[in-house]
Amino acid sequence: MRLVSTGGRSPAVSFADAIIHGIAPDGGLYLPDTVPALAQGELRAWRGLSFQALASRLACRWLQDEFEPAVIDSLVSDALDFPAPVIRLDGSLHVLELFHGPTMAFKDFGARFLARFFGHVLAQRGERATILVATSGDTGSAVARGFAGVPGVRTVVLYPAGKVSPFQESQIASVGGNVTAVRVPGSFDDCQRLVKGAFLDPDLRALRLSSANSINIGRLLPQSFYYAFAALSVAAEPGGPVVFAVPSGNLGNLTAGVLAARMGMPIPVFVAATNANDVLPEYLETGVYRARPSIPTVSNAMDVGDPNNFDRLVRLCGGDLDGVRATVRGERVTEAQTRAEIRETFARHDYVLDPHGAVACAAARRWRAAAGPATPVVALATAHPAKFADTIAEETGQEPLLPAHERDWRSRPLHAADLPGLAAPDFRDFLLRLPAL
Ligand SMILES: *Cc1c(COP(=O)(O)O)cnc(C)c1O
Repeated sequence: MRLVSTGGRSPAVSFADAIIHGIAPDGGLYLPDTVPALAQGELRAWRGLSFQALASRLACRWLQDEFEPAVIDSLVSDALDFPAPVIRLDGSLHVLELFHGPTMAFKDFGARFLARFFGHVLAQRGERATILVATSGDTGSAVARGFAGVPGVRTVVLYPAGKVSPFQESQIASVGGNVTAVRVPGSFDDCQRLVKGAFLDPDLRALRLSSANSINIGRLLPQSFYYAFAALSVAAEPGGPVVFAVPSGNLGNLTAGVLAARMGMPIPVFVAATNANDVLPEYLETGVYRARPSIPTVSNAMDVGDPNNFDRLVRLCGGDLDGVRATVRGERVTEAQTRAEIRETFARHDYVLDPHGAVACAAARRWRAAAGPATPVVALATAHPAKFADTIAEETGQEPLLPAHERDWRSRPLHAADLPGLAAPDFRDFLLRLPAL
């Protein structure tokens, strides 16, 4: 596979180079120049495969000109070693549970896949690198856990002191080893500014800094696999249409879905479900992209006012507004509607949705009401409800239980370093003093 930049002014690169660079030299996002096409016969033959087996076959389609099939298979099975079950809620409405990875959110799919391929490429080249991520919570934990123990990669996660939940802090700072957690005495925006500054700092070039946020194509690719898996699982007949409702923030997940559709998965339309941060639904209505400060909501991983995958989404949809309108419908869901969805789904189906999954489910119901009962609709549940225990308890009267593997989180020792100040040299000195791996 060759990847080109949405900026149009950088040379095409291999997948290996694209994941190591993160962002293209012209500041654009990498996009595959061609998308492998799946034949109808293949789709029929692949029905019934486990998620892991299907993921490995799809990854081979993308990556076989760069990696041996056995290598792809082993990296994929190692990265995606948890299930992605599809639950039928009622009639044609389904929920795809994407929260069975180590940090209980769908970001584990992308972070773990990227980490395995990143480590493999560095080892092949005999190189080392440092990954920098700024996080307001979820990305940092998935990246910290994903890169834990990957040889040759030091991972530095910056988070704002006192502004992530104690559980998130534990998920970021209890990893240790090659993962350095940095408590920043400021806001998330300060963390992001320090990271951006470090990438441009010539004194840090020797560290080979790279990024692992959702602009990295190595995070998007594996997310396309679960759309294929769910579509094959729920289609009324092989190759029959399936609609997905995607709880959207930076639009990485939605863009990954469009990649699956471009491969030939029978997905006629995506419902982009947002909370009050409705930049995309507004763009679909008015044709104007209006970035703005984010608004806090209960589905806080979707509180994004300037989604960083927007250009990539538009390009994949054909490059203009009409193309996006042909592929994506926007649905905004209010706080009251999100809470009502949690309450009613629990009352009617004894099923607990997290606030992000609830936004998707509320949007999926509207689409189902409009489109009739024949087409299966799949709402993506992107986080485990126990990560939002307070909101869930308010709506259902019950505290959701953490999965067994996370219940001891309070007793895990934290290894966070405190950054002494918010100036660029504070962070530069900190990075230069990190011991070599
Ligand atoms: C990151 C995140 C989202 C938003 O996904 P994007 O790819 O940024 O659109 C939705 N739900 C949860 C739980 C998340 O962590």
